[in-house]
Amino acid sequence: MRFKVPFSDKKEFLKLSFKLRNFPDDEIKALKDKTVMEFIEEHTSSKVSKNIFIIASDCYAVYDHHYVGAQDYVELSKKSFRGKGVSYPIGGCSAIPKAYSEILEATGNTIMTNQAVEKILLEGNKAIGVVLANGNQVMAEKIISNVNWKVMHGTLLSKDAFPTALGGKIENLKHSHSSLVAHIALKKPLIKKKFVMRASDFTNEDAHQMRLKGEKVTDVGGFIPIVSNIDPNLAPPGKQLVCIGLDGRFEFDYDKNVFEELALSFVQELAEKKVNIRNYVEWIHILLPKDLEALFGEKGSVIGLAQILGQVRDNRIECKTPIEHLYHCGDDSGTGLFGVGTELAALSGQHCAKLILTDERIL
Ligand SMILES: Cc1cc2nc3c(=O)[nH]c(=O)nc-3n(C[C@H](O)[C@H](O)[C@H](O)COP(=O)(O)OP(=O)(O)OC[C@H]3O[C@@H](n4cnc5c(N)ncnc54)[C@H](O)[C@@H]3O)c2cc1C
Repeated sequence: MRFKVPFSDKKEFLKLSFKLRNFPDDEIKALKDKTVMEFIEEHTSSKVSKNIFIIASDCYAVYDHHYVGAQDYVELSKKSFRGKGVSYPIGGCSAIPKAYSEILEATGNTIMTNQAVEKILLEGNKAIGVVLANGNQVMAEKIISNVNWKVMHGTLLSKDAFPTALGGKIENLKHSHSSLVAHIALKKPLIKKKFVMRASDFTNEDAHQMRLKGEKVTDVGGFIPIVSNIDPNLAPPGKQLVCIGLDGRFEFDYDKNVFEELALSFVQELAEKKVNIRNYVEWIHILLPKDLEALFGEKGSVIGLAQILGQVRDNRIECKTPIEHLYHCGDDSGTGLFGVGTELAALSGQHCAKLILTDERIL
């Protein structure tokens, strides 16, 4: 953490950090109808301190803090300040499905990849199989879908497959914003830190409004894991890989070169030695919201469902669907769960497994 601000602001920041670390559990529950912005306004008055906590929310929720729920924010912050911090699966996020795949294959199951499902087959109110894009049918006793709810309900299933209330809820689900992502490979390690949350006087919304007016954004908060410092397998020996993620909106037409300049300026700030970072760049790979949409759909949304009031905790859609033998898991399902991104998707998988085992009377 590096501060270039007056001591009074530092003190305010540390005061709220300490408070978050020790926030009583019953008081966290009482925040269920509050937004992050309301919480921050109530707990700190310094503009700098407010901005740091806002940017922390914007980085994890990738959505406007005026709508994001305070309960999850405070509980996640409490966990972080208590030492859980930010974690990264060695081998990258894909290490998680790979580990599950190994278990499935070792227990006699078949895994088919690159096989798009076009339809879920129903017999009355029971799911009995899927139709693949190549026309083949795969029949199954249980189906667990991992695609987002809007695709599941409306493409893989007809829109009248679920009761009207659930169908309406799915239609109205809001996804998180997208992201501007830069991967920067350096010819040698120039940054010592593992993970940086960059703070700024400008919130993501300020930056977005500036871009809409045609102004250049040179200072904004962001999420900067120096991934090869966390997992050395991610770069050849003696090199360094840095990732930069900033809030991005699907509807906005970003200029790749402008973002590249901004990303390089952030890397320059972090370089330990007084070097010109540009002389050490091996390659840069940029992904804009349109690229993320092409890869993952959902208008390039980075963390799936927006963690806003009305869509979190008890308002999340349950993994067990109203259709018999049809379940859902992923970052957007599992009533009562909380967390973010990959961790939330993994929790949903465990939650879904418990529901199936309960239905099968194994638990
Ligand atoms: C750029 C970016 C940065 C991110 N950074 C972080 C981060 O730092 N930390 C974090 O925790 N999370 C991060 N996330 C979010 C994280 O990746 C997701 O929350 C997580 O992958 C969600 O898992 P899931 O299983 O719900 O869905 P997904 O991982 O989206 O899996 C859904 C799967 O379904 C497949 N599929 C879709 N349609 C069909 C079909 N018709 N037939 C068959 N298969 C289909 C897709 O190909 C995909 O493999 C990031 C996401 C992005 C895009």
